[in-house]
Amino acid sequence: MVKPEWPMTDEIWHAIIRNDASYDDQFIYAVQSTGIFCRPSCKSRAPKKEHIRIFGSPAEAIAANFRPCKRCKPAHGRMPDDEWVEQITDYIDAHFREKLTLDILADVCHGSPYHLQRTFKRIKGVTPALYIQQRRISKAAEYLERTDKAIAEIAERVGLGSTAYFITLFKKTTGQTPAEYRGKKAAVLQSEVDLHEIDN
Ligand SMILES: [Zn+2]
Repeated sequence: MVKPEWPMTDEIWHAIIRNDASYDDQFIYAVQSTGIFCRPSCKSRAPKKEHIRIFGSPAEAIAANFRPCKRCKPAHGRMPDDEWVEQITDYIDAHFREKLTLDILADVCHGSPYHLQRTFKRIKGVTPALYIQQRRISKAAEYLERTDKAIAEIAERVGLGSTAYFITLFKKTTGQTPAEYRGKKAAVLQSEVDLHEIDN
């Protein structure tokens, strides 16, 4: 039988924000926005109250598709590294438009920045910072190709606040400035249209 989830009470909330270890055997809490569950004593950043779900055991949280925290190991087993890196990658893919530092990632994905950096690089072959950069540049290329948004707006939208920095980084990565890239793509498109017209 599936046990009902626990309601959020003041007592439970206080146990979570005070990292109270005396509640560790009583419940675990899962955070909707990260998909991770923790023991009450976990030293991870206090989540938003409305994102929390309370369960009586790790098994119940796992059944609800949450994954155990790497830091407090509420399921008593270590999450395999590749699974953890997948979790980090998913988070980057969903949040690369926002400010994203190694410290933020480490906080959200519950590991030390040093360990996160090393593990990510070993499994993905690139550092988290480079992976974030690649996501931003490829999204920017997509915007340049498919929209007529201004360069500054694209920089903003992919999480590269400064236009000058965006232009420099884009050129360094692709060998072309954003404007050149857009111009070439438009020219290719136009020649395809022309060919099509000749065919007809
Ligand atoms: Zn935790």
